[in-house]
Amino acid sequence: MSNGSQILVFKDMGLVSQVFDEASLGSLHGHIAVGHARYSTTGSSVWENAQPTFRATVHGSLALGHNGNLVNTAELAAMVAELPGEEHVSRSGRNAATNDTDLVTALLAGHPDLSIEETAKVVLPKVKGAFSLVFMDEHTLYAARDPQGIRPLVLGRLERGWVVASETAALDICGASFIREVEPGELIAIDENGMRSSRFAEAKPKGCVFEYVYLARPDTSIAGRNVHLSRVEMGRRLAKEAPVEADLVIATPESGTPAAIGYAEASGIPYGSGLVKNAYVGRTFIQPSQTIRQLGIRLKLNPLREVIAGKRLVVVDDSIVRGNTQRALVKMLREAGAAEVHIRISSPPVKWPCFFGIDFATRAELIANGMTIEEIGRTLGADSLSYISIDGMIEATKQPKDRLCRACFDGEYPMELPDPALLGKLLLEAEIKGGQQPPAVRGKPTSGSDLDGVQSLLGGAGAADALRRP
Ligand code: SF4
Repeated sequence: MSNGSQILVFKDMGLVSQVFDEASLGSLHGHIAVGHARYSTTGSSVWENAQPTFRATVHGSLALGHNGNLVNTAELAAMVAELPGEEHVSRSGRNAATNDTDLVTALLAGHPDLSIEETAKVVLPKVKGAFSLVFMDEHTLYAARDPQGIRPLVLGRLERGWVVASETAALDICGASFIREVEPGELIAIDENGMRSSRFAEAKPKGCVFEYVYLARPDTSIAGRNVHLSRVEMGRRLAKEAPVEADLVIATPESGTPAAIGYAEASGIPYGSGLVKNAYVGRTFIQPSQTIRQLGIRLKLNPLREVIAGKRLVVVDDSIVRGNTQRALVKMLREAGAAEVHIRISSPPVKWPCFFGIDFATRAELIANGMTIEEIGRTLGADSLSYISIDGMIEATKQPKDRLCRACFDGEYPMELPDPALLGKLLLEAEIKGGQQPPAVRGKPTSGSDLDGVQSLLGGAGAADALRRP
């Protein structure tokens, strides 16, 4: 938050509702602000990697939030290491962040001879991967989107101000009217003179199709297409592509609900609620720990025995990544008396990892890698399993196929990727291991992925590391 002469950063681990309260919000005064809720992709879940990232510049300071994930992290780290002045040498700082975002912030802050806006035009063309950025100095709010526009970013207008957000739903919530998307390859600057736009790269649109399948809120529109309607249409198409005789269509709540409604509508099979979701437990596939994910499923869903007993069920879900959720679900539904369980998935098999901000899994962990659909169905314990086709999914989004990234389904990545060894989530932690201990969380080392998962699930602020915080 900037009051025009100073930036104050308030950040912590956990859900927004755990981090902010009336008192902390009341302490933030100013007329420009950026905010961010992150789950870890490059860089583990530690306080240092929470966003916004912050850097001092010769002109003042810079705070930056990033949605997405970069693929040339090693290259950027080398560029940061060349910057003059120790304060910019990210990996050597005692409180250094170990995520890709901090490298961009360091590069933007590292050219004392140029303004932030001029620096952005030099630096952003060198950044590869998915990035929807919001950043600010004391006087100006900036927004930028990668040339592929992989993650969404939209511009809205308030009566007396501007809003940039990941999703149009955020504009609705704060009462802003939607103006337009930030274009792929565009840099926007907003200050007391209004909004100005420039281009740092040619647009080569490849929006993430998985936003339509699962990621985005249903009340959001991306590239003019409402996400909820896309999901309902995926369900309709799935019913036509993969019909089955059954008594009841149920959804895996809540992300499977629109597709289940579409499936029921197109198949003529009644739709009902067969599972109750515990609203206080987060999304399962993004918790990095296997142990926690398995626990998470039981915490998350409970079957409605009275509704499903004796019925032949169609269970509609948006995706299968590792298969743990669906395996536990089939077991639960059978124990609750379901006569048959037919699983229908409103996206194609996920066979490839995502390097652009979705921490699915490694290829080896993906259940669809190396197994036929029948085999997957058998391992899940289902009576049958079908997925929508890639074309069916894409047609439901109403976007031209060549303007969508669908790499996790077909392996066609929208840009060249560096050596796999340079793409690891903990790449930057690994880099600093030689000369320096990685940051500690509540007195424990951060090397194990289990800790990562516990951290994600528990969230919330601990005070143990308070003295090390900048
Ligand atoms: S690989 Fe999949 S999840 Fe990742 S950006 Fe592409 S479509 Fe989206």
